[in-house]
Amino acid sequence: MHSQDMQTSTESADALSAAISASRIEQAPYDILSEILTLLPATDIVHLLSTSRTLRSYIKDERIWRTVSRTYGVTDVANFGGRSFYTVYTELLHKHGPLLGLWAGDHAFSGHILEFRLDKGNEHRQASIIGEFWRFRKPQMFHMNIDQPPEPPRYISAIRIGFPLTLDDGDAPSNDVARVTCCAPANGAQLNTHRAHVHHVEQSTNGIFLGGDFFVSLLQHPDFPRSREATWLDLSRSPIPLLAVAAPTPGRRSLGVINPFFGLAWQFVMSMHVGNTGVVKPRALSLSCDSDCVELEFPALSMRVDNSVTPRYYPLRNEIRQGVEGWSNEWSPASLAGLWLGWYGPHGTECIFIDWNEDTHTLTGLKIIGDENVPRGVPSWQVSTAEPCQLSTEEDLLCAHVLGDRVACRKYRGTGTTSGTGFLQQGHPPIIVAVIGPDELGVIWVDGGFMLQNIRYKGRK
Ligand SMILES: [Zn+2]
Repeated sequence: MHSQDMQTSTESADALSAAISASRIEQAPYDILSEILTLLPATDIVHLLSTSRTLRSYIKDERIWRTVSRTYGVTDVANFGGRSFYTVYTELLHKHGPLLGLWAGDHAFSGHILEFRLDKGNEHRQASIIGEFWRFRKPQMFHMNIDQPPEPPRYISAIRIGFPLTLDDGDAPSNDVARVTCCAPANGAQLNTHRAHVHHVEQSTNGIFLGGDFFVSLLQHPDFPRSREATWLDLSRSPIPLLAVAAPTPGRRSLGVINPFFGLAWQFVMSMHVGNTGVVKPRALSLSCDSDCVELEFPALSMRVDNSVTPRYYPLRNEIRQGVEGWSNEWSPASLAGLWLGWYGPHGTECIFIDWNEDTHTLTGLKIIGDENVPRGVPSWQVSTAEPCQLSTEEDLLCAHVLGDRVACRKYRGTGTTSGTGFLQQGHPPIIVAVIGPDELGVIWVDGGFMLQNIRYKGRK
């Protein structure tokens, strides 16, 4: 076990050991002692147990480690290749367990969701922590298919964190060290061929600037997140006990030779640059591997963007709320808050985080996954919930047309965000948000005369 990680003394542990001296606690019946221990954070358990020789003999007691492992969803170690709860917790879960959950990447335009989950394994596959990218279908710029539900994400494997797959020679200590390996598609179906890295990057005021042939000067891309108080940031997630590295200065990755044929076909070729925007972004994750396959995995855009900036991933809130029927007294715009999947016609499915501001009575759908017209970090729409929506005759007809027999639902009026390629000039045309069901919204683009469907993200199937 990495004692430097585990023996970090905390004030609570100091206070506890001062209050109950080790000599007293070691005389306590074991059941009481283990009861106390299971109430403490793991670092405090190790701290307390290392205060005396008698207590140290309890350190491998499985009951303690079984309890703390449960906080990361591990209730069984059968698929960890014969390892104990003690090994699984101290070597894998303590350091990498806080990765579990969703992370929002700051890739220009598209954004990118990364999900770490526990793979419980089976008799053929060892349990591990898996990092996967969410992926939706590529943009189809010449297909205006409007009337379609958003699609669930596909998952692209990127990183596996676990113990070596085979136990070669019995108790070789290296077998009990969790390894971070690349399993991105560019690495083929091979596992464990090379290392991957999860870095904790320090807070930064850097952001992305775009350049291109048509640009007189560099153009600042929207900050992501816009501030440390962004409502989609999951501030409750435990800090990750990885050493923080300084936010990397991006290396210039060669674009390679652009095929002149494709160069003509693309409307824009943009380059990305890092610069100070003055907005503080919190600590984040970055990923890499020894062969660059993880870096090669990013969502497709219909234009060419030099992807040389190292992406940062921020913890994304993912508490799944129970939807409330619109006619119910319990209903409030707050019940819509959280992560949603929205259909964006030619761009396919994108993700928005809906937030309700009680003071300003504003409901906002902020893009977490965006596109080359309206990028991540920008509100896709914003409506006022202060007053009931009064519709004009034309709007009444439009709503009846797009909503059919669901037309009696709650509706709110506001504006959407539109832009041509590159987010260079924005428009804010009128929209109406229709609360169709507890987990379904329709965004009606009044000038366009169509509705796009949105459904609440309810977790992984
Ligand atoms: Zn790789």
